[in-house]
Amino acid sequence: MSDQTERFKENAAGRYYVAKVCIGCSLCAAIAPDNFRENGDMELAVGNSYVYRQPENEAEEGLCVEAMDACPASAIHNNGLSK
Ligand code: SF4
Repeated sequence: MSDQTERFKENAAGRYYVAKVCIGCSLCAAIAPDNFRENGDMELAVGNSYVYRQPENEAEEGLCVEAMDACPASAIHNNGLSK
């Protein structure tokens, strides 16, 4: 059983990640397309999204925060460990 913060292994290394509670709504990829992507081949196979690139500038950082705030499943996390 997965907890609220168990992450998909496909997430790019870094502080932002998508956890396995993602419901595959595509919102994050629409908000921050340079950082989130959909992937239908993941473990849960419902078109879940993952972080494919960590934000590299302030604009991307802002969009990642926006995606995190907008996620209906609270699946996007920032562990705050590194840039
Ligand atoms: S916004 Fe949240 S629930 Fe929707 S695809 Fe992205 S991580 Fe998954």
